[in-house]
Amino acid sequence: MIVLAGADLVLPDRVVPAGSLVIDAGRILAIESRSIDGPAGATRLDLAGHVIVPGFVDVHVHGLEGIDVLDGAAAIAGVAARLPKYGVTAFCPTSVACGPAALATMLIAVGAARRSPAARSARVLPAHLESNFINPEWSGAQPRRCLRRPPQKAEGRRQKAQGDAEAEFAGDEILAAIAAARESVGIITLAPELPGGMDLVRDFIAAGHRVSIGHTGATYDEARAAIAAGVGHATHLFNRMTPMASRAPGVVGAVLESDAVAAELICDGFHVHPALMATAIRAKGTRRIMAITDATAGAGLAVGTRARLGGQTIVVTGRTAELEDGTVAGSVLTMDAAFRTLVDRLGLPLVEAARMCATTPAAELGLADRGALASGLAADLVVFGPGLRVRQTYIDGVAALEH
Ligand SMILES: [Zn+2]
Repeated sequence: MIVLAGADLVLPDRVVPAGSLVIDAGRILAIESRSIDGPAGATRLDLAGHVIVPGFVDVHVHGLEGIDVLDGAAAIAGVAARLPKYGVTAFCPTSVACGPAALATMLIAVGAARRSPAARSARVLPAHLESNFINPEWSGAQPRRCLRRPPQKAEGRRQKAQGDAEAEFAGDEILAAIAAARESVGIITLAPELPGGMDLVRDFIAAGHRVSIGHTGATYDEARAAIAAGVGHATHLFNRMTPMASRAPGVVGAVLESDAVAAELICDGFHVHPALMATAIRAKGTRRIMAITDATAGAGLAVGTRARLGGQTIVVTGRTAELEDGTVAGSVLTMDAAFRTLVDRLGLPLVEAARMCATTPAAELGLADRGALASGLAADLVVFGPGLRVRQTYIDGVAALEH
């Protein structure tokens, strides 16, 4: 039994000042409104001046500290082992558009990590695919040569890029790779306005995936139709999607308007201006917005360092990660910094910030027994010291960080 005593506890509806949290057998056994000693034999940590929040759940992580999730069989475990340092206790490994072999390798690793979770590593959730079926006009740093039109059943033909060995694959080979690893695929980002895109939306939903609108040039009406068909997720709201204008609400307008969609928001204060972050949070509320990092292998590395994103070279700059031509390529954000942005720059109450970083993504992904500080739930939590710096991260009640 572990007693975390004297810390401010960020519960789903309030902050308990100088309370205690009791962990037993990997679960939160009790939450007390004062600093307690706990039973004889319990390990008691005096955490006066600390803040405890639920462990962060990041549904959009490409990589970290030099590792990209498409780097091969060991990449998923490598990222999972490094994330607790930043307060993350569960994450969706996120691919950029890639070939079927690279995708299959990643999904096999996801399945293995889920069957045999590593101690002191963030829990690996089903993957998030920023898929091959996005709009080339809105692809950002996604490798253009790997983009495909949704396979049209009636056409039944294979589209291949010419003269590029790595790009020698057809869209239906991607569908086959997904079908071969169904349970390892959670979220699929696509552009529903592509020819055949709505059929793909319906097929993926029927197969049990969570479909996200993203990297998309859809009009407002097209986005509304996709939402009506079951799209319940939006990939990095504002970034790489049609913007909101007075007579053309775009994908942004459709997502802000609809309670059926939970939106990702990159919370580094660079990808989305803090004024628009605040506006989106007011429009949708913190139960419909998930803080994400969109972190690349450049996250956690020094400015100027080179890393990879789906086989492309990226460079860490002072504000983000970029391709060598200057295209913004994911972020260098970590979840602890996202949390600080929400609290320090936007002035969000701790309860609301914790909801965006933990509770809402856990609920959206159906993680019924985690995502909040409450008796009976899994003891996934972050202990912050002064300045909201991560001091310790617990996963299923086990301290993940060495001191
Ligand atoms: Zn993206």
